[in-house]
Amino acid sequence: MRSKVIIFVIGIAAVLGIVLCKNTNGSQWFRIGSQKEGESGLFTSQRIVKKKAYLTFDDGPSKHTDEILDILKKNDVKATFFVVGNPTKEAKRKYQRIVAEGHTLGMHAYEHNYKKIYKSVDAFSKDLKKLQNYLYQTTKVKSIYYRFPGGSSNTCVNDIKPYIRKVKSMGLYYYDWNALSGDAIDFTQSSEELNNNILKDAIHEDNTIILMHDLGKAKNTVKGLDSLIRSLKDQGYEILPISESTKEIQHVSVDK
Ligand SMILES: [Zn+2]
Repeated sequence: MRSKVIIFVIGIAAVLGIVLCKNTNGSQWFRIGSQKEGESGLFTSQRIVKKKAYLTFDDGPSKHTDEILDILKKNDVKATFFVVGNPTKEAKRKYQRIVAEGHTLGMHAYEHNYKKIYKSVDAFSKDLKKLQNYLYQTTKVKSIYYRFPGGSSNTCVNDIKPYIRKVKSMGLYYYDWNALSGDAIDFTQSSEELNNNILKDAIHEDNTIILMHDLGKAKNTVKGLDSLIRSLKDQGYEILPISESTKEIQHVSVDK
């Protein structure tokens, strides 16, 4: 009799166990179901166009290039370097590192001398071709990305349009900026001030090209870079290197 009671109790417990398991499974299944709904929510958010930010560094390589590259690497971010010509062994290593780590190697000027390069379209294109060839020899990358020294809106030349046509005839894409830190205007600005200058401009843009400098004197740019990247990511920007699909931000264009 007693054993029958025990068997009965075990039986009830087993049945209850199955029911509980079913409920558990059921609710798990239900949870998976609601996760799926969540996933579809995520899917929806992925379809929202992400804001894009392009970090660009002019005038390098410099004594800061390696540190800039280290910070970009740590944050898993790719940027664009509009470089000048520097024939030293150390500079060559830096161009090569820029390329090896997946950043965009852009051109600025072989010789960053406004008077010389903007003397004539001929002098300008000679300098640019020299830089393109030099970078190709050094990195095996034929750069097609360009930034005018001073931007396309610079005041060193009366009419930039013949220069723009030259750039285009060389098959190059040129990029100005719509956010700038001012790091080559006033070297005394703190990293917080520089970043605030950028964010104040970038906030209005879904597609922001940020001008900074890889320049010996621009040490606060390097100091603030980690925090700038975090702020941009927090504000929903995807940080990308310039590529052929990047929307060109141009202060002056021959089409306008
Ligand atoms: Zn420059």
